[in-house]
Amino acid sequence: MRTLRDAVYAAAVGDALGVPVQFRERDTFHVDTMTGYGTDNKPPGTWSDDTSLTLATCMSIKESGGVDISLMRTYFLKWYEKGEFTPFGEAFDVGTTTRQALETGVGLTDVRSNGNGSLMRIVPLAFLHSVSKKDIEAVSAITHGHRIAKDACIIYVSIAQALLQGATLPEAIHEGMKGNKNPLFEHLPEVGTRKREEIKSTGYVVDTLYASIWSLLQTDNLKDALLTAVNLGDDSDTTAAVTGGLGGILYGCESIPSEWLNTLKRKDIIENCLFF
Ligand SMILES: [Mg+2]
Repeated sequence: MRTLRDAVYAAAVGDALGVPVQFRERDTFHVDTMTGYGTDNKPPGTWSDDTSLTLATCMSIKESGGVDISLMRTYFLKWYEKGEFTPFGEAFDVGTTTRQALETGVGLTDVRSNGNGSLMRIVPLAFLHSVSKKDIEAVSAITHGHRIAKDACIIYVSIAQALLQGATLPEAIHEGMKGNKNPLFEHLPEVGTRKREEIKSTGYVVDTLYASIWSLLQTDNLKDALLTAVNLGDDSDTTAAVTGGLGGILYGCESIPSEWLNTLKRKDIIENCLFF
């Protein structure tokens, strides 16, 4: 039985693999293990906003026992303002929509605010005993309130839930698409047939969901799935973190190379946030 630990560690490892090469153009670099410095000049194993906000989400669930939007926002602010849930006491790699939403207290709802900033932190919801689509939408809308970002989160959590119940990845994608009416996502079940050059890895939430599912469908183990995602370039940390959230459920955190896990910073913070 997979647990939240599998999803969170695999996401954190993906995040940390991608941080040093974030925003780099595809095929101008090649990552094959945990490295450091680069884009944000952080040591190897440093995880970023993706993992921090996932942990803040976990912490609010741990404390409230469910989805408490106000408490969740409070923990997001502890990250943003005080650097909690971070490896070095400082929030970094903060997305523009997330920043604006946390500063004003209102999630953004315009069509241009459809970055992957809510998708990258949504996986803990799959581990709740009951979570409604309304809950998932509300959690996304703390920062990302547009239909597209909310639909991406619903599909992603639904896929994660199906994987937790033992579905294969193609079955889980099929499950996750049930009830989806958004044409932007209708090609997700066939994404595995696309060529690498057809896969975009920008910060647009639609690209991130497709790229992550594609990375999982191209590979048969967690290590390769994460490296495949990172090496797509551009928003490499988030693409790999989103890949890791599902990949951890598919393969288990014991399949993370021990060298990578050993390099991962502040595992004590991660452990403290796991709610079961
Ligand atoms: Mg990041």
